[in-house]
Amino acid sequence: MSDWLDDLIAAVRANKPLACAGCGRSWDRADMLEAHLPSRNVGPGPGFPLTLTLLTLGWVGPCCAELADQQQP
Ligand SMILES: [Zn+2]
Repeated sequence: MSDWLDDLIAAVRANKPLACAGCGRSWDRADMLEAHLPSRNVGPGPGFPLTLTLLTLGWVGPCCAELADQQQP
């Protein structure tokens, strides 16, 4: 399990504010929503002509909810 995930789980358990995955502002857990966000682009490269955007599941605040909404699979 990765460190950031441990931190996230610990923060949720402690009911601490979480940093928005989109912009880093802190919000109360209750104000946030779980959303898929583009994490990185892959390709194009040799034998792989497409550009893919990988999505990661993260928590976003109201600030980035609209942005995240456009990224849902
Ligand atoms: Zn944000």
